[in-house]
Amino acid sequence: MKTEMIALAGDVPGNSIELRVLRFEGRNEKAPSAYLQSSLHGSELPGQAALHFLIPMLEKAEKEGRVAGKITVVPQANPLGSAQWLAHQHLGRFEFFSNVNFNRSFPLLETFDTSKLPEIDAPKSLAERLKAQLLRLALPHEIVLDLHCDDESESYLYIHKAFLPEMYDLASALGSTAVLSWDSTADAAFEEACAHPVLHLPEEQRKARAVTTVEFRGLNDVDVETGRSDAEGLYRFLVHRGVISDSSIELKVDFNGPVTPLENVEMIRAPQGGMILFHVDIGDEVEAGAKLATVVTVPGDPNGDVTLTAPQAGRILTRRSHRYTRRGDDLLKLLGAKRSDSARPGSLEA
Ligand SMILES: [Zn+2]
Repeated sequence: MKTEMIALAGDVPGNSIELRVLRFEGRNEKAPSAYLQSSLHGSELPGQAALHFLIPMLEKAEKEGRVAGKITVVPQANPLGSAQWLAHQHLGRFEFFSNVNFNRSFPLLETFDTSKLPEIDAPKSLAERLKAQLLRLALPHEIVLDLHCDDESESYLYIHKAFLPEMYDLASALGSTAVLSWDSTADAAFEEACAHPVLHLPEEQRKARAVTTVEFRGLNDVDVETGRSDAEGLYRFLVHRGVISDSSIELKVDFNGPVTPLENVEMIRAPQGGMILFHVDIGDEVEAGAKLATVVTVPGDPNGDVTLTAPQAGRILTRRSHRYTRRGDDLLKLLGAKRSDSARPGSLEA
């Protein structure tokens, strides 16, 4: 394994960040290559925990001559966001200066030629240069896994419709309970930027590829056991795709969870601000009309309670981890079987 430190100058003198990039050279040029990154949203750590346990497994495979395809790993993809603290709280989703989500506004390229991306010393903000650098690292790989997490959540995947059903192998390897399928969000998340040039390839070349945002459960699902088992899941997938050779691993592709287009996801939002009392937990299956959450707007007065119900039957995929909400904020995601009346274009979340 080779460790490369890529320094990016800050936007004012005396500041810089370092991107730590781990590289494993593949022994077989024909084997698919893989790129894995974690924590693009600063403090989303389940993916980082998985990589913490995966990297020694990759090193062992390398020592034993079993790394077939090139592998690049960036365990902390966003040192800028990782350093954003305010009033003792970490805030890693939006860049402080621009308020732009770190996982939006990536450049969308028509081909794999990255020569037009802003150079590392371009007269551009650090956030833009960092995004360009991450794309330069990821795009030469056939497999790109961007590891995130939700608030309180089951383990699920975002996958472009063009990669289905081939990518059920990843869902099976990771034990994902659901897939959210999309075709265009126009918000240019990292996943979309990595998928964009792939979608211009002929279908048979596309099939061998995999691009995804992995949502490894919730923010607090960070522990030894989960990290280890997620690392094993990633390893199983890499073996299944031929990036690593390991005859002891056999993957059964048996994913049979819901595959829900984004427009079928009911984003339940708070009609008023207040205290959230959830009636359902993640993984629950509910009928249409079932109580989902009550927003208490006048504590002590039940007349101030606003109870939200399920617009259609489905599965509760995620809940917010906080219990105090603002008007209009997301409360939970319900996976429906039909289009949501409140579906809107773009990503599900800001
Ligand atoms: Zn994220």
